[in-house]
Amino acid sequence: MEGANKMAHSEVHYFQSYNHHGIHEEMLKDEVRTNTYKNAIYQNAHLFKDKVVLDVGCGTGILSMFAVKAGAKQVIGVDMSTIIEKAREIVAVNGMSDKITLIQGKMEEITLPVDKVDIIISEWMGYFLLYESMLDTVLWARDRYLVPGGLIFPDKAHIYMAAIEDGDYKDEKIGFWNNVYGFNYTPMQKVALAEPLVDTVELKAVVTKPSLAYSIDLYTVKVEDLSFSVPFTLECERNDYIHAFISWFDIEFSKCHKPVKFSTGPHAKYTHWKQTVFYISDYLICNKGETISGQISSKPTERNPRDLDVVVSYQFEAQDPTRSRGETLSYKMC
Ligand code: SAH
Repeated sequence: MEGANKMAHSEVHYFQSYNHHGIHEEMLKDEVRTNTYKNAIYQNAHLFKDKVVLDVGCGTGILSMFAVKAGAKQVIGVDMSTIIEKAREIVAVNGMSDKITLIQGKMEEITLPVDKVDIIISEWMGYFLLYESMLDTVLWARDRYLVPGGLIFPDKAHIYMAAIEDGDYKDEKIGFWNNVYGFNYTPMQKVALAEPLVDTVELKAVVTKPSLAYSIDLYTVKVEDLSFSVPFTLECERNDYIHAFISWFDIEFSKCHKPVKFSTGPHAKYTHWKQTVFYISDYLICNKGETISGQISSKPTERNPRDLDVVVSYQFEAQDPTRSRGETLSYKMC
């Protein structure tokens, strides 16, 4: 008989993607990501000294080893993927096998060898922060294992919105379907528009000030709060055209002696999360000082909780009403 908790196909696929060394190479080579974790942990050795630490989704074990170097008494790393076999070897060749216990399995299904942990460390962020994200798992571990007053590294995430001029690239991606070898391919435009693009946005393309849309505090957030609908307001900083909204996130380790953070925004150093681009169906002509009011909502899709349904709506009231526009756009990240 099949096990009662046979994993959905999408789950199998998700964990399999982390079996391969290539994805771990990409994450480890993301120096903004990995160095920020390293700094947050090393610069706060006083918080890690003699503590029991849980590394949720340990991958190759990098965060577990940072924690040992910072003085942790015991670190438990959990990962469902077969990469944990390599983590075991890596930990051994670095002489840390006595401090780090690695458990292969789904966080929600295994039992830790301890009843409580003092600190949870995890790198759970996905594109657009929440796509394919495993934050649910971190919250599950928090509620089950974290001692009252325990620490979560990182503990804050902020989602920002802005708008960009992107005529050339939009034409390449969306306009392309207007004429394909002499044929009208516009039926493809709808599907192309419905998928947010994960790509790097040049700072000079950004037309508006950024707007903080949503903040997550990992000490208090509930799984339900990861489905949200929030307003944002964008003020144009110059006269320009607007072809898309973009989103990015910042991550904060606020319980440090000196707060440590990084941004995945267009103003910051490259990270593998890049930015997420939501094209609008047409374009806006906006003047300096005018504002766009919008709403963004995000929730896991019914079919696969790791995919997202994202809806962006906006209302642009221009000084000259012929330029005013508004619409509601639905996107799927899958
Ligand atoms: N901590 C590592 C890897 C981060 S990637 C690093 O910073 O380099 C996230 C890892 O979490 C993946 O290896 C994935 O297999 C694992 N993971 C995600 N959800 C999980 C769950 N529910 N149970 C166990 N492992 C999980």
